[in-house]
Amino acid sequence: MGGRYLVTGGAGYVGSHVVKALVDRGDEVVVIDDLRQGHRAAVPPSVELVSINLADRRQVADVFAGWKFDAVLHFAALSLVGESMRDPLRYCIDNLSNSLIVADAAVKSGCLRFVLSSTAALFGFPKRIPIDETADVAPVSAYGESKLMVERGLDWADQVHGLRSASLRYFNAAGADPSGQIGEDHDPETHLIPLAIGAAMGTRPPLTVFGTDYPTPDGTCIRDYVHVTDLADAHLRALTRLDRGSCRFNIGNGTGYSVKQVMDSVERISGKPVPHSLGPRRAGDPAVLVASSARLREETGWSPRFGALDDIVRTAWAWHSAHPKGFGDRG
Ligand code: UDP
Repeated sequence: MGGRYLVTGGAGYVGSHVVKALVDRGDEVVVIDDLRQGHRAAVPPSVELVSINLADRRQVADVFAGWKFDAVLHFAALSLVGESMRDPLRYCIDNLSNSLIVADAAVKSGCLRFVLSSTAALFGFPKRIPIDETADVAPVSAYGESKLMVERGLDWADQVHGLRSASLRYFNAAGADPSGQIGEDHDPETHLIPLAIGAAMGTRPPLTVFGTDYPTPDGTCIRDYVHVTDLADAHLRALTRLDRGSCRFNIGNGTGYSVKQVMDSVERISGKPVPHSLGPRRAGDPAVLVASSARLREETGWSPRFGALDDIVRTAWAWHSAHPKGFGDRG
């Protein structure tokens, strides 16, 4: 028999892929999403979508009172690093308080399993690559700090209330569901792969490469791109892992690709050039961020199906070329 799960932010990019994975395996899902960033069309019609603001404690408590959930998976958050440095207090206030409102409502309703969408931004400028779970947490953005505060709040909820949580620190989520039904549609879009694809398609301006003087083989930044379907699979495995207590996992492919390698991949897959210019570094960008997901692999048996960059870019290209306006629900 399937379980029943609450997914906050389930109409967003990673959240909607997790909702699909849960529904595909026969679970019942309720989504909370205020649809400021999320898309109605990203949620299967069979899934109940409750469009409320998480800051409204009473309404959040009402959702928990109406269903008995086996676990909550919490994605809804502000997630733009640059914006967080223009408005740090908003990020800290919103991300911390909304997350803890959800955790509090979960505890009070007797739902004691919580999966947190966390981030590699916790690690700031790491001392060692690949980054495993023992690395120092030292965020260099208010966004990273806000997620760290949530993780700490969840630790206390475990100690005092027995709320078991899995904090999943994603590296660079990328790609789209292989069915072609859902994919990445952010506004504003700041991520490299959709911007490079949009430049190749001519639906976005030429790409600016942020920095070519990094201490990397081709001078551009190296990141660990993990396919969103593999990320979704990690969430399902984390739910099972929670039976053994709280946990933290870094999630990436363990292989880094440079900005230039990503552009080359987009050119290979699309058969089109990626118009671009070379620009200065973006503030706060470390040269290399690559995850060690050894702990996730050992403890849950996870391994990525879409580890190769071309496989990731191929699914992203399929989504964007079939949906040049994304979900098409913006004015
Ligand atoms: N990047 C770039 N041009 C862009 C957007 C991103 O050169 O228009 C680079 C960025 O500096 C980083 C990598 O691409 O090295 C991935 O950036 P993204 O914003 O996708 O993810 P982040 O690593 O910041 O979470």
